[in-house]
Amino acid sequence: MSCGSHVELLDFDRAELTAELEQRFGLPAFRARQLIRWVHKFRVKDFSEMTDIAKPLREAFDDAYTIYRPELAERQVSRDGTRKYLFRLSDGSAVESVLIKQTDRLTLCVSSQVGCAMGCKFCRTALMKLKRNLATHEIVGQVLAVQDDAAELGEVFNNIVFMGMGEPLHNYDNVMRALRLLNDELGHDFSYRKVTVSTSGLVPAIERFGQEGAPASLAVSLNATSDDVRSQLIPINKKWPIEKLMSTLRELPLNSNRRITIEYVMLAGVNDTKDDLARLPGILKDVPCKINLIPYNENAGLGFKRPSRDHIAKWQDRLLSRGFNTTVRWSKGEDIDAACGQLATANEAKQAVSG
Ligand code: SAH
Ligand code: SF4
Repeated sequence: MSCGSHVELLDFDRAELTAELEQRFGLPAFRARQLIRWVHKFRVKDFSEMTDIAKPLREAFDDAYTIYRPELAERQVSRDGTRKYLFRLSDGSAVESVLIKQTDRLTLCVSSQVGCAMGCKFCRTALMKLKRNLATHEIVGQVLAVQDDAAELGEVFNNIVFMGMGEPLHNYDNVMRALRLLNDELGHDFSYRKVTVSTSGLVPAIERFGQEGAPASLAVSLNATSDDVRSQLIPINKKWPIEKLMSTLRELPLNSNRRITIEYVMLAGVNDTKDDLARLPGILKDVPCKINLIPYNENAGLGFKRPSRDHIAKWQDRLLSRGFNTTVRWSKGEDIDAACGQLATANEAKQAVSG
């Protein structure tokens, strides 16, 4: 690699790479298709492996671009087979990805930011505040690095959720570019059903997501049934309260078969009362959705508790009987702190416990 060649190849989606190669080298569009295939589908990390490209051109590419992988700082394996990856980025900051093992599938949970600006009171990532957005190559780099690792174990995953650190719609452009790359049939080729972006409810960004036909499914963290409680838990609710959020979801242009996942983190005594259960169906009326109840993963120092299993099961039964497709996300990887809302770098976690 020559000096100064710090343009990351993984920062271009196919259309952008086509334009870039045309401008920089006068190359036709099929060159972009070749590169996308090599780096995203076959996951090569070195231009010398691109056997259908002549050596002089490979060398020119090698001078111009780098092919990114985050450095794997730590990998922990849970008793249930879930794996947590701590990646060190070029500037020394760290993010986590989790490969969640369920009976019938593997799901990769990726991060979209270092920390998060949203300040939700129950979430450990919030304690870090926002350090910075991840670049597209750092988002897709997590996917590629975990694919490299999984391949060694003979595993393939076909679901990706943006439910790690960060608010993906607060890093809109880089996340959208990553979604296009994940969806590209020459590259990762994940259908939009297999990729889910979870948001705390940034209404303007949700509208854009719908209008632009983002190649991913949407999940929204509702987590409360009154604006009072939701504003306390999720500060941006003051800006975009529940009814505004729900009317946006009702009007979202989605394929007729697309359903929005409504996530509901259950916090004992806070958002799991009889009144909450009674209000929820009305709030979700005419929202094309399915409900995912998330038993809270307790974070030391934040002061929230998980309701009993029976109580959560009762909610599920009631919502099912009201006609809502309702699932419960029983935690995976709890013994390695890999469950929802547990993601923070080791340093930050220590601060969270002591401070
Ligand atoms: N920022 C996005 C995506 C990352 S958080 C969002 O908020 O939707 C992913 C999910 O984890 C959200 O539904 C969030 O409410 C939930 N969550 C955060 N902390 C949690 C915890 N300690 N236990 C269970 N779920 C949690
Ligand atoms: Fe950010 Fe999501 Fe955590 Fe809220 S729950 S602080 S939006 S990561």
